[in-house]
This record gives sequence, C-alpha cells and structure tokens, in this order.
Amino acid sequence: MEDFNAFGLPEALLKSLERLNFEKPTPIQAQAIPVALEGRDILGSAQTGTGKTAAFGLPLLAKLMANPKSSALVVAPTRELATQVMKSLQDFLGRNSPIKTALLIGGESMFKQYKQLDAGPRLFVGTPGRINDHLCRRSLELGSADFLVLDETDRMLDMGFSVQINKILKHLPKKRQTLLFSATLPEDIVKLANSYLYNPERIAVGSTRTPAVKIKQDLMRIPEASKYSELLEQLDQRQGSIIIFVKTKFNADKMAKRLRREDHSAEAIHGDLRHNKRERLIKTFRNSEYRILVATDIAARGLDIPHIEHVINYDLPQCPEDYIHRIGRTARAGAEGEALCFITPADRYKWNAIHRLLNPDAKEPGSGSNREAKRKRFGGGKRFGGGNKKFGKKPNFGGGFKKKGGKPPRKSDGEGRSEGGEGGNRRSGFKGRSGAGRPGFSKGRSGGSGRPGFGGGRPGGKRPGGRPGMKRRRAAA
Ligand code: AMP
Repeated sequence: MEDFNAFGLPEALLKSLERLNFEKPTPIQAQAIPVALEGRDILGSAQTGTGKTAAFGLPLLAKLMANPKSSALVVAPTRELATQVMKSLQDFLGRNSPIKTALLIGGESMFKQYKQLDAGPRLFVGTPGRINDHLCRRSLELGSADFLVLDETDRMLDMGFSVQINKILKHLPKKRQTLLFSATLPEDIVKLANSYLYNPERIAVGSTRTPAVKIKQDLMRIPEASKYSELLEQLDQRQGSIIIFVKTKFNADKMAKRLRREDHSAEAIHGDLRHNKRERLIKTFRNSEYRILVATDIAARGLDIPHIEHVINYDLPQCPEDYIHRIGRTARAGAEGEALCFITPADRYKWNAIHRLLNPDAKEPGSGSNREAKRKRFGGGKRFGGGNKKFGKKPNFGGGFKKKGGKPPRKSDGEGRSEGGEGGNRRSGFKGRSGAGRPGFSKGRSGGSGRPGFGGGRPGGKRPGGRPGMKRRRAAA
C-alpha cells in the first residue's frame, strides 16, 4: 500500500503519522499492517531500522482504541529497546490519549512502575525479567492482554530469556493475537513460533542476511597492533557521528578514555553501566553533545539515532548476526551511512562465519594473512546481497578513502572482560581457535608507552575545538 490512509487506521493515528511526517509506509509496514489489522498472527523478519515498530505498533494501538477491554504487551530484549519502543508508541498515541502505559524494565525504580501500574494501563512494554518480577509480585495482571508482540526474539533467546518468555506467556489469555519479530529465524525461533503462534502469516522484508542497502561497507585487513593508530586516522578522515564497536566492557571504557585524552569527544556504553547512565549517554549522543560512542554489543540493536553516519567494527562481534545489527545503527530509515570493519589475522574464523551468514552460497573468503595495515576490497568487489526495492541501491564495498601510510603502529588494545548479555547463555556461533596468543600477532601490551590497552599517547596533549560533529584536525606530531 502506498498510503497510510488506505489501511483503515483510526483517525487519531493518522493524525499522529502526519505530525511525525510518516508519509508512506515502509515495506514491512505495507505488508504487516493490513495482516495484523485483520487479526492474524505474524512471524516477521525484517532488517533493522526498517520501521518495524510502527508495523506492529499501529495495529496494536488500533486494537486498543477499538476495544476498551483489550490490553497489549510488548516484550523486548533490552531496556534501551523497550524504552525506544514505548517512546514510539506514545508518539503514535499522542499526548492526550486516554490509553495509559507502563514501561516495565529492569534497573528502574519499582516504585515508579507500581505507580504506572496502579493507574490502570492497557499498554505494557518491558523486558522479560522485570515483567516476570511484576507477575510474581502480582503487581501486573495480563489476563486481558490479548495482543502480544515479541520483538527481536532471536536476541531474547540469545540472552537466555526463553524460560522467562515461556513463564510470561502462561499469564496471557490463550485467545490472543501474537506478532513475533526476529532478525533471523533459527530452529529455536521456529519452534517457539510453532508453539505460540496460530497459523501465522510469514512476512519477510528483504533478506535479513543483508544489511540495509544504503550502508557503504569497507573492510580493512590489519594486524592487531596497528588497529588503534588506524582508528585515529579513520576518525580524522570521517565527519559526523560515529559508533565504534569493541568486544569488551573493559576496552570500551578504556578506548573512550583514551580517545578523550586524544581530544576526541567520546563516551563508552556497555552493560555494566546503570540504566540511568545508559539512558543519559544515549540521549546526549542523540543530541550530538559528543561525537563518538564506543559500545559493546549491548548497543548493537535497537538504538535508533538517525544521525549516526559511521559504524566502525574495531573488534568483530561474538555472534555473526550482530554484525548486521551493528552496522544497522547507521543508514536508519533510508539515510546513507558507512561501515568499516577491522579484520585481524586472528579474526579469520569470525569473519568467515559472518561472510557465510551474509553469502550462504559464496566461497570462503581468503585467509587474510596480510600483516600490513592494507585496505582490501573484499572478494574483488563482490557485493553482499540483494537490493531492497524501497531503498533501491545495493551496498557498495568499494572506494572511499586513502590510507595514509608510514605511521608506526600504536600499541594494540589488551584483552578485557567479555560483555555478557542480560541473561547469559549466549549462543556463540563461532568455532575454532580465538587466535589470541598466536605467533606473529600482538596480544595486549606490545611496547610503547608502557600503559596497558590502547597504547602510547598522542604528543601535544589536548587540542582545541573538539566539538561534536566537527571534523577533527590532526595536531602536529
Ligand atoms: P524502527 O525500525 O521501527 O526502529 O524505525 C526506524 C526509524 O524509521 C525510526 O526513526 C522511525 O521513526 C522511522 N520510520 C519508521 N517508519 C517510517 C515511515 N513510514 N516514514 C518515515 N519514517 C519512518
């Protein structure tokens, strides 16, 4: 459908869409909204940033508006995603809506949530742990929740929430409408869908194996020891907001500190931070109060910040699917973005797993034993996949920037603690050696300034003018 008016949505929602400048439905919205409005269950998969929230949110709200006895529950894997979903749904509802809401996420005061629950909400959005907490304390009653959305279900299972989800589902009425969204559909999700969905309509928009088509992806094969100095080069060459993904919480903190010492405006976000702090960091990043967010995979999904122009995979993700989610932080809602991925020789197995996910029919990529920080086009310019009709263009792996040569490598970052999910029990997805400690590649400290981690300091100290969003000028060494 070309137009939101054609769906038969309530007038109040159409007005909100106009206010929010939603002119045309995205492909997932065009497919899912009419099916959901008919009352059918949906097993949906879509790329990140494609407008999934409105795809389930508009039918959900239409149902709540039509039936004052109905209530709805949206379950999401992380507090950030739940908060974001709630914000979108409240935007659609508008300020004066009589439909009350409750956001039930961990790390927030129970008192505040009791207050919301006491006010008689009909829309609940939350994370599995806290929803169960309220169910156990009987502060939450889901007997009339006849509309259920499980968002980013693969992520929830990855985080070990399957028992929690099963518990929650026992509290919902059997006769209900269920919409299950998942970026990937492995066997466990299909099993869950078979148990909990009734004759679902299968909706897939684009291939969930392919990142959004307006992301220009570059790979750089590089020794571990050269990564940090190359990162600084890249930060100099790029303009606009950047997310840098690293493997561990420890290294996220360390890298952000290190970049600040280099006079970049940078903050770190990871699962060890309190929810309030994470919220504050996301809000200030959204407001362009700083330029660089160093993140672990906790930030890989759900973050919807339209102005993120670059994603740098400093470390590869533990789970191949997270590669797609990470780079999906840029090129939101049809905008353009760039993603750069550092691949060290030790990353070979991980990269092969990502490559297999993206190109199930392609040959294994080369071994990548190139030890110089040499940028390489992957597979001779091979593209990762098909196009999305709406956004048209295919991903571009070519061209972009020139590498300035001749700088001595900085020290590599050390090994830190690994980022855990909120529920543990994470599926790994990679087999084989980690590569750490293999001959020829530095691990942890490798000479230089003698500080562990991100290596020798940039001479010259702080430079003036590190304002967010400004292109950084390199101080003379
Ligand atoms: P989502 O995938 O739901 O997180 O949405 C990604 C971004 O796209 C959000 O900023 C939405 O506000 C925006 N968006 C979703 N649908 C539309 C639409 N039909 N028109 C314009 N923007 C949209």
